[in-house]
Amino acid sequence: MTYDTAHLAQDYIHYVKAVQKQLRHEGHALRFARALSIRVRIGFSNRCTPEHPNGPLMVVQPWHYGNTDVIRHEEAHILLWWSGLEAEIIAEFGEELGWRVVENLCQFAVGFLRITQPMVDEAVNRYGVSAKAVKHLQKLSGADARTAMNRLIYDDARSCRAGFLMSGRYVSEVAQCNWGLPFGWLDEVPEPAKRFPSDAKVSFLKLTPSQVLGVCWG
Ligand SMILES: [Zn+2]
Repeated sequence: MTYDTAHLAQDYIHYVKAVQKQLRHEGHALRFARALSIRVRIGFSNRCTPEHPNGPLMVVQPWHYGNTDVIRHEEAHILLWWSGLEAEIIAEFGEELGWRVVENLCQFAVGFLRITQPMVDEAVNRYGVSAKAVKHLQKLSGADARTAMNRLIYDDARSCRAGFLMSGRYVSEVAQCNWGLPFGWLDEVPEPAKRFPSDAKVSFLKLTPSQVLGVCWG
């Protein structure tokens, strides 16, 4: 065992981004599959067989067929298998924990397959690393706030960024990349702005009457 799983998410996303670049950042789930010669069929459950002798095969329930995140999730499984990292994960963590790691990684990758690099670059060029950029990513991709926030915060593993979502007085989501938030997931924080030092680079945006998004950088 020589692979260091500490870099697992980073290595996987690096692989995903390299494939996307090859496909000119195709964001449509079915066109992405077609470009990779992944066959998409309709069936009783959602699953994929990357090692099928006739080439990778994906089966999805009829209501998930289309430009959907279920297709992207199965594509993420095929990419993980191709990358060789799935085998490393199972070898390192065993069958039970390993498959949970695989599921989490594939779900994480859905945001990267849906929100492509040109979308992120456009949002950051327009609004910097900010809450407005997350909102713009939502507009471009149709993704929910959590997915768009994670996509921006974890875009580059070397950068220093964090984001959070408030649901009323509670922290409902956090994302941290080399940037430590002054509160944690599920904490009660009535006035989050007061928890940051005055010189902190942080921006806020009210998404709904009860939901506030915060993004920190630098
Ligand atoms: Zn899965």
